[in-house]
Amino acid sequence: MIEGINFIGNEISQKGSATFKAKNPANGNDLSGTFHIATSDEINRVMSKAAHAFRSYRNCRGSEKAAFLETIADEIMSLGDELIERAMAESGLPSARLQGERGRTCNQLRMFAELLRDGSWLDARIDTAQPDRTPPKPDIRSMLIPLGPVVVFGASNFPLAFSTAGGDTASALASGCPVVVKGHESHPGTNELVSRAIIEAVKKTGMPDGTFGMVVGGPETGAALVSHPLAKAVGFTGSFNGGKAIYDLAQQREEPIPVYAEMGSINPVFLLDEKLQLSAEQLAEQYASSVALGVGQFCTNPGLIVGIKSESLDTFKKKLAAQLKETPPGCMLNSKIAENYRKKRASAFRQSGIEVMLDPSDETGSTGSGSVATVSAATFIDNEELHEEVFGPYTLIVECSDEKERQKVAEKLKGQLTVTFVGTDEELGKQKELIGIVREKAGRVIFNGVPTGVEVCSAMQHGGPFPATTDSKFTSVGTRAILRFVRPVAFQDCPQGLLPDELKDENPLKIFRQVNGTFTSKQ
Ligand code: NAP
Repeated sequence: MIEGINFIGNEISQKGSATFKAKNPANGNDLSGTFHIATSDEINRVMSKAAHAFRSYRNCRGSEKAAFLETIADEIMSLGDELIERAMAESGLPSARLQGERGRTCNQLRMFAELLRDGSWLDARIDTAQPDRTPPKPDIRSMLIPLGPVVVFGASNFPLAFSTAGGDTASALASGCPVVVKGHESHPGTNELVSRAIIEAVKKTGMPDGTFGMVVGGPETGAALVSHPLAKAVGFTGSFNGGKAIYDLAQQREEPIPVYAEMGSINPVFLLDEKLQLSAEQLAEQYASSVALGVGQFCTNPGLIVGIKSESLDTFKKKLAAQLKETPPGCMLNSKIAENYRKKRASAFRQSGIEVMLDPSDETGSTGSGSVATVSAATFIDNEELHEEVFGPYTLIVECSDEKERQKVAEKLKGQLTVTFVGTDEELGKQKELIGIVREKAGRVIFNGVPTGVEVCSAMQHGGPFPATTDSKFTSVGTRAILRFVRPVAFQDCPQGLLPDELKDENPLKIFRQVNGTFTSKQ
C-alpha cells in the first residue's frame, strides 16, 4: 500500500499538511496515496540523521557496504509486480521496459558491491620516508574518503535506474556517504516502494539509522535540501533548467558544495557521404527507431543529424519522416513533459529557415508523436534556440554545403553526452580532424551505431562538457561514478596503528596500491 510518507532515516513521518497526488499520465486520473510534502523540521531532521549516520557509516568495511548494496537489490526484486505496476501507472512506460530497468538498477548495485569487495578503487598510494635524503622525505600515504551526506534528485524518464536507488544513490552509498533522496513528483509511489526496500536493507544489514532518507515535495523541498548546511554534495539527473538552478543554489551557499548534474543533450550524429550513399534507407529506419524509442524520452536521443547536401541525404530525410509518421503516438511521462514537448517543438518549427518535414496531428492528452525538420547549416549556426534539447521524439537535420561547413557546425556545438559518426572505415579514416573537434565536446564518441542505450560497465563515460553536465570530469554511469563523492586525504608520518587498513604496511585488505610508484597488492 502506498502511504505518502517520508523516511526520516528509518522513521516514517507525515507531519506536513500540504499534500499532492500521483497522476496516471495515460488518463490523467489520480493514483492511490496522498503524499505529504516534508516540513522544514522534517528536512532538518533527515539531514541531521544523515550527518550522524555518516560518523559510523564512513568507517564500514567495503565488504559490509557490499552486503548492504546487494541486500537493497534483493529487496527491490522482492517488491515484485507491485513495483512494476506502480511504475507503469505513474510513468506510462511499458512493463517490459520497466522490468529491464529494474534489472539494470539491481545490476548497478551489484556492480558497486563487487567494486567495494575488491577495494582497489580507493586509490591507496604510499610513498615511504627517506630520512637520509636532503631535505629528509616524510612518509606520505593517501587514499580516497567519502564527502558526507549526499542529496540525490532522480529524473522522470528513468523512475528506477536514475531515481531513488539509481546510479547516484548506488555510487554515493558505495563511497561511504549517506543519501537523502528528494522523491520525484512524477513517480512518488515508485519512489516510496523503492525507499522502503532500501530502509529494509539498512535494517537487515545493521547500517546506522540515517544512512538513507527520503523526503517528498516540490522544487522548494529540493532547494531546502541543497541549501542545508549538512549537505556535502548533490547528485542530479534531469533537465538543464533544474540542474542549473540547483548548481547555482549550491554555489551561493556559505560553504559551496559540488553538484554533479547530468542534464540534457541533443546528441549530434554526423552522417558521412559514402555510408549514406550505400545505405540511406536502412540508416533512416535505424534512426527513426532510435528517435522514437521510449517516445524520444532519453537523454541520449539523437536530436540533431548533420549531413552534406546530396540525393542520398534527401532519401534519408524522406524515409526518416515517413517511418516516424508510421510510428503511433506514445504516452509521455507526464502532462508537463508532453506540454513542453509540443511547446518547444512548435517554437523550433517557427524559427526562420526551418523546413518542417513532419509535424504530427495525431497527439491527444499526454501522448507524443515523431517530428522532423530540416535546416541549412548557416541558419543552424546562427540560431542558438536550434541547439537546445526538445525532449521527445524530435530530430533536426542540418544540411551542410560542404566539408568546411560541416566542420563549422561541429565547432559551434555545445557540450554533449554523446556524438555519433556514421561512415565507412575509409571515410572515417579521413575525418580525424572532425572527430578531433567533436571529441572536445562529448563524453562518448560512438561509431556506426545509435546513441540511445548506455551500457553500465566500468569503462563507460556518461557525462560531457557543460551544458550536458555541470562537471565533465565525472560520469554518472559505471563504476567511476563513485569518484564524485570522495576526496583524497594524505597522512604524513602517521603511526601505523592510526592508519586506515588500506594504508597499513602489511596491506591487510590485500588491495592494489601504488607503493613507491609501483602497483602491487603486496605489502
Ligand atoms: P526535471 O524536471 O529537471 O526534474 C528532476 C528533479 O529535479 C525533480 O525531482 C525535480 O523536482 C527537481 N527540480 C527541477 N527543477 C528544480 C528546481 N528549480 N529546484 C529544485 N528542484 C528542481 O527533469 P525530468 O523531467 O525529471 O527529466 C527529464 C530530463 O532529464 C531531460 O532533459 C533528460 O534529457 C534529462 N536526463 C538526463 C540524463 C543524464 O544522464 N544526463 C538521464 C535521464 C534524463 P520535482 O519532483 O518537484 O519535479
